[in-house]
Amino acid sequence: MNEDRCDVWLVRGTLRGWRLIETVVAVPPQARGLPLGRRCGACGGTDHGRPILPWTDAPSVSVSYTDGWSALVLARGRVGVDIERCGERPALDALAEWVWNPAEYEERRGRDDWRSCLFPDWTRKEALLKAHGLSVSMASFEVGHRLARVPGMPPLAVTDLASPPGLVGAVAAAPSAAVRVRIVSGPITPRRY
Ligand SMILES: [Zn+2]
Repeated sequence: MNEDRCDVWLVRGTLRGWRLIETVVAVPPQARGLPLGRRCGACGGTDHGRPILPWTDAPSVSVSYTDGWSALVLARGRVGVDIERCGERPALDALAEWVWNPAEYEERRGRDDWRSCLFPDWTRKEALLKAHGLSVSMASFEVGHRLARVPGMPPLAVTDLASPPGLVGAVAAAPSAAVRVRIVSGPITPRRY
């Protein structure tokens, strides 16, 4: 995706829920005050899964939470976001085996800076899986290029997010989609006004 299609705002914990969503998209009057819907990409259930905006032709939503921060992303079509707290954590090597496929592991694990590759790759893969609504293993595909493909799925553009210090993040969306990202400290809890 073109960099200028990905609009990222860092919002420090002042806007929540619908007020935050209204910084991204015009909410039709009839939708105001309604709870967000949910839909599970795997089973179609409506009591869990990703949030959906409650009006016709609304853009798709993805949210991610980590350690005191939240990310909200809206775009047409498939979209997924992931943010993670990076840095020292236990069992980094096990995390590497969980994130990287054998070829990626072989290529990256020997580098001195392998830890700094690991978290961005994790968020890129997690964003891709969320965009597709899949729960397959991250080690079953590669994410080496900006246009990334999970087997059997259409390719999506993956963009790293400019995140607050100590966080990494990525968003996956259709290559032509305009992507709107809001990163806030604290929970989003997007329910009602
Ligand atoms: Zn489900």
